Amino acid sequence: MNAEIIAVGTELLLGQVVNTNATFLSRELATLGVEIYHQSVVGDNQERLESAIELAEKRSALIILTGGLGPTKDDLTKQVLAKHLKKKLILDEETMKKIVAYHEQRKRPMSENNQLQALVIEDSIVLKNTNGMAAGMFLNLKENAYILLPGPPHEMVRMFEEEVRPLLMKQLTKTILVSRVLRFYGIGESRLVTLMDDIIENQTNPTLASYTGKHEVSLRLTAKGRDEASCEKMLDNLEMSIKNRAGDYIYGYGDETSLVEVVSKSIKDRTLTLSAAESLTGGAFQSMMTSISGSSDIFEGGLVTYSNRIKKGILGVDQQIIDQFGVVSSQCAIKMAEKVKDSFETDIGISFTGVAGPSELENKKTGIVWIGLAIKDKETFAKCFNFEGDRNVIRELSVLAGLDLINRDLLGKEIKQKMY
Ligand code: ATP
Repeated sequence: MNAEIIAVGTELLLGQVVNTNATFLSRELATLGVEIYHQSVVGDNQERLESAIELAEKRSALIILTGGLGPTKDDLTKQVLAKHLKKKLILDEETMKKIVAYHEQRKRPMSENNQLQALVIEDSIVLKNTNGMAAGMFLNLKENAYILLPGPPHEMVRMFEEEVRPLLMKQLTKTILVSRVLRFYGIGESRLVTLMDDIIENQTNPTLASYTGKHEVSLRLTAKGRDEASCEKMLDNLEMSIKNRAGDYIYGYGDETSLVEVVSKSIKDRTLTLSAAESLTGGAFQSMMTSISGSSDIFEGGLVTYSNRIKKGILGVDQQIIDQFGVVSSQCAIKMAEKVKDSFETDIGISFTGVAGPSELENKKTGIVWIGLAIKDKETFAKCFNFEGDRNVIRELSVLAGLDLINRDLLGKEIKQKMY
């Protein structure tokens, strides 16, 4: 099959934005055996877009358009193509529901423009947009096939991976692709990839690709086969090999999950409750916990105890602990965790005390953080971390380490660093 790409957007013509979508699509399509003979860029102009489409139809079987699916007046890709093909634009109920829910959640009024993003060309297969609102489209007609993708690269790439690639695979080779995403916390990408070196080197089917997220890494496993069951089997085998090397760092599955969601579910499944006492994180842990819907089932509340006066007065940290060990100490973290657990009458109490920097505290280096964990009927402990980064990074890493600590404890997983 031969194809061509038309990138739509005046900003591309003016050189304000680099046409990375075309680069990505050409590269990915080549791996599928689709040959790209032409790429073009056209501004947000009805006549010129239509003539670009007409020209493409004469020389390419598949025409991929990116950009111009948004809600504004200059977004006219689907309108122009629909008119050109003498097809109607119809409402896609699924996309509409998503747009309505998005506005309701944020208590924002929905303008008529927003509804435009739910219009699709009749007879097309709707391509879901997991990173945005505008639906994509695949239209397979007698003479030509058309794929319409959004302009923003993070939306386009995701739509390609999730919707277009499997669709093209099916059309081109009568095989299907099944993917599985493993999420890792506590291990860097280079170390993880090194552990998988031989698998990556010898991979043909299934394939393995790594992605870095914010303070975490994902592996996407993709199997190609005739049916779902055979693909799933291949993925199970590959996952087993990965688990043998780095299973300890896997916290969850899928693109949509996060450490906080996994930990919240773990706590909820055990019908436990949680409270927190925070110093250097200043409430960031509590904010993270409450970012999850349904968190009130498990999270009772917490305290931000920043100064020594409040640590003493509210949490009962003894002056003797402060004088002898300092507030950045296991003794202080343990006291904070136990006190918040008891005062809030929860099953779990977690505490954070450390040096966010940039200056040292109590002669302790920036990045030294103690996290205390008190769990009903278990021995309270605190763990020391030595994080690197600026103030915000240290605070973010502390929150994630706290979540990981709870997760590991609940799952009975080894807590690697020295315990005090
Ligand atoms: P939106 O809802 O954001 O309007 P859209 O599908 O209408 O989405 P455009 O308005 O065409 O997309 O582009 C939105 C932004 O996406 C552009 O300002 C640009 O930053 C980026 N973008 C668009 N096309 C490309 C491209 N071909 N390569 C790289 N980035 C692009």
